[in-house]
Amino acid sequence: MADNPGITFDRIPHPAPVDAAARTALIASPGFGTVFSDHMISIDWSEEKGWHNATLGPREPITLDPAAAVLHYAQEIFEGLKAYKQADGQISLFRPDANASRFNASARRLAMPELPEDIFVDSVRQLVLADRDWMPEVEGGSLYLRPFMFASETFLGVRPAKQYKYLVIASPVGNYFKSGAPAVSIWVSRDYTRAAPGGTGAAKCGGNYAASLVPQAEAIERGHDQVVFLDAAEHKWIEELGGMNLFFVFDDGRMITPPLTGSILPGITRNSLLTLAREQGLSVAEEPYSIDQWREDAGSGKLVETFACGTAAVVTPVGRVASHDGEFVIGSGGPGQLTARLKEQLVGIQRGTEEDRHGWITKLG
Ligand SMILES: *Cc1c(COP(=O)(O)O)cnc(C)c1O
Repeated sequence: MADNPGITFDRIPHPAPVDAAARTALIASPGFGTVFSDHMISIDWSEEKGWHNATLGPREPITLDPAAAVLHYAQEIFEGLKAYKQADGQISLFRPDANASRFNASARRLAMPELPEDIFVDSVRQLVLADRDWMPEVEGGSLYLRPFMFASETFLGVRPAKQYKYLVIASPVGNYFKSGAPAVSIWVSRDYTRAAPGGTGAAKCGGNYAASLVPQAEAIERGHDQVVFLDAAEHKWIEELGGMNLFFVFDDGRMITPPLTGSILPGITRNSLLTLAREQGLSVAEEPYSIDQWREDAGSGKLVETFACGTAAVVTPVGRVASHDGEFVIGSGGPGQLTARLKEQLVGIQRGTEEDRHGWITKLG
């Protein structure tokens, strides 16, 4: 693949990259989001020039004026995707075009300029190839890519900014949740919502995460791993976790996930699992599900599995749910069969051990 005809990346190799021995030590047990590779992508946007200054250069601090719009009004969006080492040694991306198109949907909602999808995919590709030695070899390891864009204009008035920066950084990662925990426990937030009708819930913007931190901290304080949010209008319908979508599996083999009403983030993992499950002849529906029904169905045994999904944590079983009204256990409290099977299939496609029948894999060489 050649550089994008409309945009060429200037290449500035890192003058002093991390040496091989230190890098090997760092990626041996990378954790999540604490280790970063040598390089980054940077592209600027201005009203006069459009996208320009495309660079693949050293990862380094950025300088911002204290009046930069993003620091005041949070005009910022991001994406998260992973590069995987395939069974044949090649490096691949999983559905990067879907991230590119969601990035632009987020950009539209936050009144930001769109980045041509091929430039998005190319930027990620260039960074992965430059820093391919940062790919961890540990089980479940991958190179997590974080493309993001923010308003860099120096201006305190409230209106869409006229200057933006798009950056991509890479972080070698292991498992999101500490392995050993068979299933996560979640806390139902009563006092807080993540997103409201007409709000920014369907956009991947930093502000949504800022709003989820207090309820997430409340969940941790009460001894749970994650918070689950209900809808803002009725406080009744299950929406999603702070950063993962939810699926419910019933004893008759039916599987449902809440519909994309505008306050739920349209997960690419969610979409991929819907496709995989439908292909297996499972009866799958995007359908509202209430907290009361969830509790009742878990009690009666009608609901047998619940799992959360997203790029970072892939597929994670939910074992226990707690709220101000008490606690309930799902199935045996551990991972369910369908959850395990869907996870295996998805990971198999991502790692190249299962056939990619949907063109989800982009091999980078
Ligand atoms: C990113 C994200 C997800 C998961 O999306 P994937 O594309 O599957 O990684 C789910 N919910 C929220 C709020 C998110 O930000």
